[in-house]
Amino acid sequence: MSNDMRDHGPHRVGQVKEITSLANPIVKDIKALGQKKTRDETKSFMAEGLKLVIDAMELGWAIRTLVYSKAAKGKPTVEQLAARTVAHGGLVLEVSEKVMSAITRRDNPQMVVGIFEQRWKALREVRPKEGETWVALDRVRDPGNLGTIIRTADAAGASGVILVGETTDPFSLETVRATMGSVFAMPVVRTNVDEFIAWKRTSGAQVVATHLAGSVDYRTIDYKRKPVVLLMGNEQSGLPEVLAKEADALARIPQAGRADSLNLAVATAVMLFEARRHLLALEGNK
Ligand code: SAM
Repeated sequence: MSNDMRDHGPHRVGQVKEITSLANPIVKDIKALGQKKTRDETKSFMAEGLKLVIDAMELGWAIRTLVYSKAAKGKPTVEQLAARTVAHGGLVLEVSEKVMSAITRRDNPQMVVGIFEQRWKALREVRPKEGETWVALDRVRDPGNLGTIIRTADAAGASGVILVGETTDPFSLETVRATMGSVFAMPVVRTNVDEFIAWKRTSGAQVVATHLAGSVDYRTIDYKRKPVVLLMGNEQSGLPEVLAKEADALARIPQAGRADSLNLAVATAVMLFEARRHLLALEGNK
């Protein structure tokens, strides 16, 4: 990793670096964020799009690097973002479209990309209150599913997403894209099965697990009684026994037709909007 990426110290303030060469070490460092190992080591990730970057900064996410393409130069919003990035000690890069395409691995890339510090919420800090709904995902594998679930949880007014066991990375480019910005609004927790079970027992929440062998129709559950944790199983193997037996209810969504099961993100959406049905209304909302 080059010094430019590691050290955004005061000597950077006021500087905008221009980059046109794909061989520039900063470009290589940014491209390396496509790998989980680099994201983990640098505790950072990339988000694309002007609106997303503005929203993230407004929500207080720390920006390390702002990248914009030459075509965006001089746009007042981009200039403001650049000034804010510099004020926060970040690096600002003006790059050619070729470099932007390489960074984002896209033919028609967005004009603005932000590199932000990752944020994780600790499970011990999660104390579900009345009216709260959390989504817990067992070993979610598919980045598109995880991104869609984070977006849907945000839209349904859930309080956060808990990742249990080995899961896909919420900060991968694909997942961040699928969240459509909700990754900046939804707290994400990572934990393992033992920690989750220990937490669940003292959390005061009811765990509604979803299972293809569940005996309870998901529409008959009282979601108002206590805060709710919706526990969803892995895409391939479903929920393991060790987690299923901890559930306060094992819910099933009745199905017709030939499909064996619903897609994980779809099942989560159905559960979320049922669990929060009494809390969602058109009036006063969007
Ligand atoms: N072959 C897997 C199995 O046997 O469980 C299918 C898993 S399904 C694609 C992924 C997850 O979505 C399930 O573990 C469950 O949490 C949820 N799910 C999908 N369809 C469901 C349904 N009809 N009722 C309850 N949960 C469902």
